[in-house]
Amino acid sequence: MSEQVVAPRIRGFIATNAHPDGCAANVRAQVEVAQASLPGSGIDEVLVVGSSTGYGLSSALCACFGYGAQTLGICFERPSVEDKGASAGWYNLAEAHRLAREQGRTLETINGDAFSAEIKQQAAETLQQRLGKVDLLIYSLAAPRRQGPDGTVWNSVLKPIGGSHASKTINLRSGAIEERTFDQATDEEIADTLKVMGGEDWADWVETLRANDLLADGFRTVGYSYIGPKATQAIYRSGTIGHAKEHLEATALELDARLSADLDGGAWVSVNKAVVTQASAAIPGVPLYIGILFKVMKARGLHEGTIEQIVRLYRDHIAPGVVPSTDEGGRIRLDDLEMTPDVQSTVDAIWNEVTTERVGELLDYDGYQRDFRQLFGFDIEGIDYDAPTEVHREL
Ligand code: NAD
Repeated sequence: MSEQVVAPRIRGFIATNAHPDGCAANVRAQVEVAQASLPGSGIDEVLVVGSSTGYGLSSALCACFGYGAQTLGICFERPSVEDKGASAGWYNLAEAHRLAREQGRTLETINGDAFSAEIKQQAAETLQQRLGKVDLLIYSLAAPRRQGPDGTVWNSVLKPIGGSHASKTINLRSGAIEERTFDQATDEEIADTLKVMGGEDWADWVETLRANDLLADGFRTVGYSYIGPKATQAIYRSGTIGHAKEHLEATALELDARLSADLDGGAWVSVNKAVVTQASAAIPGVPLYIGILFKVMKARGLHEGTIEQIVRLYRDHIAPGVVPSTDEGGRIRLDDLEMTPDVQSTVDAIWNEVTTERVGELLDYDGYQRDFRQLFGFDIEGIDYDAPTEVHREL
């Protein structure tokens, strides 16, 4: 037992603690949306890799609470130790597990390195012993590094390819608009980022399931990608991470060819919209873009968070019997509202105009910062932040 008053420790895009009750409230709010929007049953078994925060958490909650699926999640989170609290993702899952138990649903979590053969094997054993063959695998990993079986470490970097690039950014500590120059990536950095964020590990997960006879007939799998606007193109889509995402997208096409022939199943990439997550806050230029985008999309009544996006993904594309609609590259486009010409041209004009003095007027910067604090359970209505709370929570 360790009851503490938990005050936010956030600097820029780094938060080093989380509030357990705030994280729990976030999860309950997402579960409410999933239960109000989805049928409650219809999918038997779902595996989510990257299930504790962001798009993966919403994917696991929609599976378990929106379709009644027996759900296994894989994540890499920090449990509490002595008087040090756990990470936000741990607290999210602690509440998701509690709700699942309360409602008689099955949600299991394996906390460990998804890239490793050990965790893949542990997942296969859990499925064989308790849950059964997988109908849907969601691959939602956003990782800074990957370690190979011989100890080799590959780091993912966010850099332009083919030349340095100067970009506007927002300094998340001061709120100032700054011009920063990003050095071009080396060939090794390009290859390493692909190793971490490309499709290889996704294909390894599918192969682990296949080798253990854990692919259900009609098995479907979806990995998440992003394209984004002109303003972030040099750093994002044409940069190291975009190169890795192209590999993820090519992997989807290869998997799809095999799965549709063998199991009447399929594989797709879903291009999701920009949202505030731990991963996106660290990408140069993206917080500024999201601040502008949110202002524009909220004004048009088009705003969505991860749960609304993932409800749409299941309902309109990957629920049983639904045929996904895709673009010419075979990709599901949940970023359709973000990428409308009207939204993009308005965002682009604001991007060119914005200065430090006009941040409050032109950006939804308060909204961005609130969303970021809320990822860690802070700034949530109804939580008494002056009251001590138990920081040890079990999954
Ligand atoms: P996130 O940081 O919120 O979540 C990442 C997840 O990966 C967490 O559950 C974390 O525990 C898990 N993880 C990280 N390293 C791991 C490891 N070694 N082993 C096991 N689990 C590990 O990220 P997110 O923004 O939700 O991103 C998820 C996916 O969605 C990524 O592919 C990302 O590119 C994509 N996407 C994100 C956005 C966005 O704006 N955030 C937009 C479109 C697509």
